[in-house]
Amino acid sequence: MSSRAYVGLGANLGANLSATLTQAALRLAALPGTQVAALSSTWRSAPVDAGGPDFLNAVAALDTTLAPLELLDALQAIELAHGRERSYRNAPRTLDLDLLLYGELTLDTPRLTLPHPRLGERAFVLLPLLEIAPELGHLAVGEDWQAQRIERLAPLSL
Ligand code: ATP
Ligand code: CA
Ligand code: CA
Repeated sequence: MSSRAYVGLGANLGANLSATLTQAALRLAALPGTQVAALSSTWRSAPVDAGGPDFLNAVAALDTTLAPLELLDALQAIELAHGRERSYRNAPRTLDLDLLLYGELTLDTPRLTLPHPRLGERAFVLLPLLEIAPELGHLAVGEDWQAQRIERLAPLSL
């Protein structure tokens, strides 16, 4: 049985952010028991609650037989492979992979909270997510995200 998961991709450090997201998407597609069912466009967004360069963001829909924590392990391994250093929340990073949703699962543990707790407040998550899953519009929370600067760029293709 596979589950539909959504992963948020973000990068704002590095020479070629779009190549970083493409490589990350290829690594997602190569995970065991996992298929990429859909990829959003790339979106350029202003950093939220932090300085630094603009982010490039995207969302991938996965169909996976990996368990939630196995998938989180895999996402963190891909981040490390891209030279991610963990400093502080929302710090500039070469690659950030957040598990946004895993089926209908709700979870609140130290390592993994589902749905991702800030998903509904972030334009850089909501807009690419709704692009590939328009039925999830009810996840948007409040109106602050509508004021965040974001623009849609090219499709992310594998
Ligand atoms: P934010 O979570 O607000 O987007 P961030 O992405 O900068 O902030 P990180 O430093 O990447 O935060 O992650 C901190 C911790 O969050 C990770 O070690 C991970 O165990 C935990 N975490 C909890 N829930 C999730 C989730 N749904 N997806 C990814 N990481 C999660
Ligand atoms: Ca994040
Ligand atoms: Ca993260």
